[in-house]
Amino acid sequence: MKGICILGATGSIGVNTLDVAARHPEKYKIVALSANSQVDRLLQQCEQYQPEYAVLANETAADELVSKLKSKNLATTVLSGVEGLEKIASLPQVDFVMAAIVGAAGLKPTLAAARAGKRILLANKEALVMSGQIFMDEVKKNNAELLPIDSEHNAIFQCMPDYYEKGLEKSGITKILLTGSGGPFRTKDKSELENVTPDQACAHPNWSMGRKISVDSATMMNKGLEIIEACWLFNTNPEHIQVVVHPQSVVHSMVQYSDGSVLAQLGQPDMRTPIAHCLSWPERIESGVEKLDLFDVAKLEFEKPDYKRFPCLRLAEEAIKKGGTAPAILNAANEIAVASFLDEKLKFTDIAFIVEQTLNNVASREAVSLNEILEDDFAAREEATKLIKIRVKQG
Ligand code: NAD
Ligand code: MG
Repeated sequence: MKGICILGATGSIGVNTLDVAARHPEKYKIVALSANSQVDRLLQQCEQYQPEYAVLANETAADELVSKLKSKNLATTVLSGVEGLEKIASLPQVDFVMAAIVGAAGLKPTLAAARAGKRILLANKEALVMSGQIFMDEVKKNNAELLPIDSEHNAIFQCMPDYYEKGLEKSGITKILLTGSGGPFRTKDKSELENVTPDQACAHPNWSMGRKISVDSATMMNKGLEIIEACWLFNTNPEHIQVVVHPQSVVHSMVQYSDGSVLAQLGQPDMRTPIAHCLSWPERIESGVEKLDLFDVAKLEFEKPDYKRFPCLRLAEEAIKKGGTAPAILNAANEIAVASFLDEKLKFTDIAFIVEQTLNNVASREAVSLNEILEDDFAAREEATKLIKIRVKQG
């Protein structure tokens, strides 16, 4: 029986994780759940899954949950804040930690899971983008296991049977082919992109996801963050990663070998597949995902990415090449710009502009400690906020 902690239980990945785990009550026990401030959703999950702990990052929300649990006679212990999240990620009765908080807020609790030597099911790519080196070092030092939930990285992992023992080069891998659907605006031209709305940006053609990652998919910053994520997970660099636009989202990514072989992982665009894979690895379990019918799919298409219409791809590649705190600055500026777009303050096409200007204005540092990363993350948020105010005034 494996004890599970879900960081970000009320989100899209969190809910899918509960769905898969609940199909195997003999294998998985839900020990702890967390959310930001969604009291009623977390309360409902506590009723259904009876975890030992529930954490709300927001303290007022946590107080509210305490009284609601009491009135229902539920024995779940409630904690709050980052300390609460760090605590549930390191409990001795927790074996697996699903890291599914969105954005930089996931960094500290996910690092705590690494320090406690857990199996980390990593969905929260922003944590790795911000602090890749520190994160990977902690994983190694504490004998933690880091398994990728992001569908592309999970596919790549599945296409590298020897990877864990040998690494990329010794496995004969020459290239990672990172697929992406191209998002809802794949075929829109530049002028049309200017006035798209948050709802249009969040209407992803193949995947149903939280709003932040949906906007990232529309700008293709998501693919940029995934390039950085792949560099850390597979110990490689952007020269060995080719982004391939694949509108059907059936091939979740591919790996090219020195003998000319290309291995691919295919499946429905349903996150329960990578979640089930990482929960049961190296074995396989039922996930609830509908079986793929290739006759239904019929056609698989592949296109080159357009760096002109989707400049976020270039910005992410430049940031990882620069290294140090540059990816953290990119990520922080993007979080602020996306939030402002979702608030209907900033134009869609200005997201890339704000990220680029922030990268120009905030100096990055080379050798980095966690504190320096967090300082530069903070500076980038301030700068992006300032730049957005000016941009909005200009109209
Ligand atoms: P979501 O918005 O649906 O859920 C986010 C979760 O994080 C919620 O439970 C929310 O309460 C919690 N949260 C938000 N802010 C928080 C804070 N400040 N402190 C503590 N908790 C906080 O997002 P999602 O789509 O589930 O994505 C989660 C992560 O997984 C993201 O990093 C995303 O990039 C990654 N991911 C998601 C998908 C997908 O299909 N949804 C696919 C690949 C990767
Ligand atoms: Mg992905």
